[in-house]
Amino acid sequence: MAPLPKMTPDLSSFRCRRCGACCRIPGGLVRLREGESAALAAALGMDERTFLDEHTLLAPDRRSLVLRDHADGSCEMLGEDGLCRVHAAKPAQCREFPFRWRNPDSARICPGLRSLAREAAERAE
Ligand code: SF4
Ligand code: SF4
Repeated sequence: MAPLPKMTPDLSSFRCRRCGACCRIPGGLVRLREGESAALAAALGMDERTFLDEHTLLAPDRRSLVLRDHADGSCEMLGEDGLCRVHAAKPAQCREFPFRWRNPDSARICPGLRSLAREAAERAE
C-alpha cells in the first residue's frame, strides 16, 4: 500500500461513509463506560443483566467490560446489513471515532479519514 499522506487535524468536514470498517478492526475492543450497558440493553429491548451475560466480556486488562465479537472478529453489534444495531445508544468510544482518537492507524482503517488526508495533501501541493 502506498504511504498515506500526512494527516490533517482538521476534522470539521469529516463525512462518515457508514462502511463499518471501524467496527471490524482486528483485535479491536469496544470498551463500555458507566451507564452504557443499560442504554445498550434498552436499545436491544433486553434487561441489563441478560445483556451483560450475553453480549459483554471482561477486557483482557480487566479494566472494563467490552462488547463481544462475531466469529469473524467484528463487533457483535454490527448487523448483517453492515450497520450498527444500537446506533442511537452506541458507546462513547464509537461516537468519538475518529474525532477523539489519536491512533495513527485510524487513517488506514477509515476511508473518510483517508479522503480528508488526501484532500489536505492536494491543497498543500
Ligand atoms: S457498537 Fe456499533 S458502532 Fe460500535 S463497534 Fe459495535 S457495531 Fe460499531
Ligand atoms: S471507518 Fe470511518 S467512514 Fe467507515 S463507518 Fe467508521 S467512521 Fe465511518
